[in-house]
Amino acid sequence: MSIAKVIVDVQAKSINQTFDYRIPERFHDIISEGMRVIVPFGPRKITGFVVEIKNTSEFDKLRDIIDVLDIQPVLTKELLELGKWVAEDTLTMYITAYQAMLPQVLKAQYKKELVRNTHEPLADEFEYLFAGRDVIAYEEFVQSNIPYSKLQHAVQETLISINYLVKSKITKKQVTVIEPVKESFLLEEALMDLSPSAKKQRQLISFFIQNPDPIEQAKLFQITNTNRPIVKALLEKQLLREFKKEIYRNPYDDSSFKRTYPLNLTEQQEKALQPIRESIRKIEHDVFLVHGVTGSGKTEIYLQAIQEVLKQGKEAIVLVPEISLTPQMVNRFKGRFGSEVAVMHSGLSSGEKYDEWRKIQAKEVRVVVGARSAIFAPFENLGIIIIDEEHETTYKQEDQPRYHARDVAIKRGQSHNCPVVLGSATPTLESYARAQKGVYQLSTLDQRTNEKDMPEVEIIDMREELHSGNRSMFSKALKESMEEVISRGEQVVLLLNRRGYSTFVMCRDCGHVKECPHCDIALTFHKRSNRLKCHYCSYEEPMPLVCTECQSDSIRYFGTGTQRVEESLHELMPHARVIRMDVDTTRKKGSHERLLKQFANKEADILLGTQMIAKGLDFANVTLVGVLTADSMLHLPDFRSSERTFQLLTQVSGRAGRHELPGKVIVQTYTPEHYSIQLASDYDFNQFFLREMQIRRSFRYPPYVYLALVTVSHPNHVRVVQITQRIVQLLLKVVGEETIVLGPTPSPIARMKDRYRYQCMIKYKNEPNLRSNLRKIIDQFHEEIRKEDLLITIDMQPYHFM
Ligand code: ADP
Ligand code: ZN
Ligand code: ZN
Repeated sequence: MSIAKVIVDVQAKSINQTFDYRIPERFHDIISEGMRVIVPFGPRKITGFVVEIKNTSEFDKLRDIIDVLDIQPVLTKELLELGKWVAEDTLTMYITAYQAMLPQVLKAQYKKELVRNTHEPLADEFEYLFAGRDVIAYEEFVQSNIPYSKLQHAVQETLISINYLVKSKITKKQVTVIEPVKESFLLEEALMDLSPSAKKQRQLISFFIQNPDPIEQAKLFQITNTNRPIVKALLEKQLLREFKKEIYRNPYDDSSFKRTYPLNLTEQQEKALQPIRESIRKIEHDVFLVHGVTGSGKTEIYLQAIQEVLKQGKEAIVLVPEISLTPQMVNRFKGRFGSEVAVMHSGLSSGEKYDEWRKIQAKEVRVVVGARSAIFAPFENLGIIIIDEEHETTYKQEDQPRYHARDVAIKRGQSHNCPVVLGSATPTLESYARAQKGVYQLSTLDQRTNEKDMPEVEIIDMREELHSGNRSMFSKALKESMEEVISRGEQVVLLLNRRGYSTFVMCRDCGHVKECPHCDIALTFHKRSNRLKCHYCSYEEPMPLVCTECQSDSIRYFGTGTQRVEESLHELMPHARVIRMDVDTTRKKGSHERLLKQFANKEADILLGTQMIAKGLDFANVTLVGVLTADSMLHLPDFRSSERTFQLLTQVSGRAGRHELPGKVIVQTYTPEHYSIQLASDYDFNQFFLREMQIRRSFRYPPYVYLALVTVSHPNHVRVVQITQRIVQLLLKVVGEETIVLGPTPSPIARMKDRYRYQCMIKYKNEPNLRSNLRKIIDQFHEEIRKEDLLITIDMQPYHFM
């Protein structure tokens, strides 16, 4: 076995081609599939992934692999296959998919070092190499003539580990520690020798006579009310000693989790868990959709399913949307499974992420709780994959590779013969339709475990507020309720549904929103041309001067932000303490958690925020939830806008009255009659599903068809239209009769960074060759892409249409 097939990191036309390289003698014993290597490519040295090792090559004059980057494979056989599938499914390069599966640290070339993990003697050659040091540069090993296989062995035995030197102030922090000299009589003597006027020094010495243990300097200052000059004086007299200690910031301190034990399940929970358990025991793949209202105990079902998996000696992946990955959430998993749990989310520094990944690879943990990319956790013996809040669009990656974690989960579930569990209070129409057809197994939990009803929802018609002379953004009812709640010492959550602002146009008198006559989608207001456009079918019309429904001239496009809401909140209720949570106030690492903690500690009466406050929060003292503008999302140029509105309202309502105190929800809207608002206020998912499915069927949207979105961008307006037009024509030649190809249409954001953007939408049911056809079509523009700064992106399952 002396030839390696390598996927190289080159952005080229023949993107998924592998290249053969000779494996030099010194790597023979250790090289294996899934390792990264450095290979020559033309005049350059580049990285690549070994995907196969074989005896012969059909090419002659092979070049040698220059170096191996890993001593153990970073991708398992299964993940190599999976990456290939992801790349083909999303029309990206293999190398892009492989890189997306690894932690950031492994994507760049960091300096490495070897760390000795034991003080037991190592093999002679390693003793010689380390020469008394605990840490050496990796290069020293490379320059020695120790066989790679020996290092690989030592790493597997955990005698030596390989560290990546990631520059990060967050992962490692040093503190100064002070301790007294060992002989306490020296301190006693010093105390007698010191002049009585050196009060502070005497105080410090007395402290250490009673507390001889090392103590962090900062703590010492606090306790003894001293400072550095005083410590320094005593250091100089050699009565105290100091040293630096490295503290690792374990983002989740394991010792702080209270152990929890399985609860007695309710009947509904038991019914939902039973078939999942069955599937785990029988080692059979199946997809389960757990449709349960907020507070119905879905998480407890996950926990007990995982318990079964661990009992079988297998591993579990739990995906949670990024913003729901709060300490509260992590707590629940760590509380049950302790140090078996790794956590992966974007709030961790790259070093911390790598550490968590390494725990998984080294099989030190068997459960990972994480955001989207945790779906690629390098477990080899998966027993379950759980996707909580399966309707969340963050499971779709918006960069290459544009994969959906749900699809990847099902693929992995098939490879491992294990169940995939999707959970939500408001499942996507796609998943729910599949469950209805029997493709997924459905279980329904319509009762909260505390048997409390969902909070009552009151819909406020903001048009009437306006007519009765209230021009503020707070209705009378909301204002009064807020005051009442705050006077009782309870708290309020206020949601400003901000997504989609300033894009749609609405009549403030009758609430009428201009929609496209062909698409049942709100028209987008283009300020520059003062026109309304539909980006699905390119229909457009001038911005009307009066409302076509009621002739009123108060037509507005919308624009406001949390900051303005906060200001008027201060005007309206000067005594109320407000915490504002939005992208601006949560940019800094940890600020999200800090604000939530402040709110939990009742340092504020009102938590005001955007979408990010709607999820996963669980505050016992919140008894009122207000939604300022329920409709702002409804008129986004997106066929899923009703679904998203329904999901958001349901979710945010679940935030009130989770505990002993009864809760209430007030929803302000200009379109109180809209079915997504009405049905959300009744918590009627089934009715919503039926209504929405009808609409999807008549306008041919998922789940009745699949979508693919081709976006073309170019600095020249004429060129981008031309090219998109050609793509449409080429597509029309190859697709089936039932398939619809729409476009060219300007993208909702028609110019971005001085590039014009056009798109073409494909709606299809059965197009087995669509992916290969798309590839061929894009390949035809190879020259333009290279020479003209043309960009073509394809999204095989679009969720964002901007
Ligand atoms: P969901 O994930 O469906 O929103 P949770 O799992 O958060 O629901 O459960 C809501 C609350 O009910 C939690 O406080 C949880 O500890 C509690 N709970 C869950 N299952 C049970 C049970 N079988 N008996 C008693 N309490 C339960
Ligand atoms: Zn009107
Ligand atoms: Zn249209």
